[in-house]
Amino acid sequence: MSEISQISSTLPAKLYIVATPIGNINDITYRAIEILQQVDLIAAEDTRHSGKLLSHYQIKKPMFPLHDHNERERGKVLIEKIKSGQSIALISDAGTPLINDPGYHLVNECRQLGVDVVPVPGPSAVITALSAAGLPTDRFSYEGFLPVKEKGKKDKLSTLIEEPRTMVFYESPRRIVDTIEKIINVLGPDRKLVIARELTKTFESFYSLPAGEMLDFLNQDTNHCRGEFVLMVAGATKDEESIPQVALTTLTLLKAELPLKKAAALTAQIHDQKKNDLYKWGLENL
Ligand code: SAM
Repeated sequence: MSEISQISSTLPAKLYIVATPIGNINDITYRAIEILQQVDLIAAEDTRHSGKLLSHYQIKKPMFPLHDHNERERGKVLIEKIKSGQSIALISDAGTPLINDPGYHLVNECRQLGVDVVPVPGPSAVITALSAAGLPTDRFSYEGFLPVKEKGKKDKLSTLIEEPRTMVFYESPRRIVDTIEKIINVLGPDRKLVIARELTKTFESFYSLPAGEMLDFLNQDTNHCRGEFVLMVAGATKDEESIPQVALTTLTLLKAELPLKKAAALTAQIHDQKKNDLYKWGLENL
């Protein structure tokens, strides 16, 4: 970045929300670098981690740690600094601040107090993953991290059974296999999944498989479970949207023993569903 000369002019006293790379250090905008060069102070989640990015771009600025557990109290200090005329950039360890990263309380407080907040856009793993996954993107639901505990995870997934939009989750390598197992239990083994692993990095990979096959694939090789993950789940199709999963499970079990017409009729009675919808679903899926 030596071509981008250090700019010394000062910025208006505002809070600048600056996106930084999610892996590839070149994924940062010219504007982001200019802003980081010009602000009086850079608030960061982990000042040592962000220090590496800043030194790569030869940016030397005072830094101010701001993480989830001290955000409310430290945020007040930042707001006072802005009110006294300083310009402040907020960055996180990777990607866009506030997207599963600190900053919400600070931005909310700024908005309430009439302090200007300026977004400086750039990478975020959710959008990066969606842009190359091949799943519908006209509407999607960003779900962040699933709860870690078994019951919480299952309950959360149960609320999403009929969600028609593509769903996007962040997941850790330690929990990805367990999460796929729960998805199989709750959404069924046929639900299409796309995993985006190590986006913008050397081992960037996209895996696109039904949930049941995804589990086998991840279990085949520990390398498949290394690194950072975005997990995308295809939305429920029209039929799945209107037919509860429990009825589809019954239909699938009965179809193993009976002709589809009979299986659909019995399932319709048991679950108070439309016979024709079940029959149609059976023709397409069983
Ligand atoms: N603020 C970030 C953003 O805008 O995407 C997200 C921060 S969140 C604490 C970190 C999670 O984002 C990781 O656990 C992973 O799920 C996802 N993530 C971040 N970078 C990624 C990458 N290069 N490849 C895949 N997933 C990534």
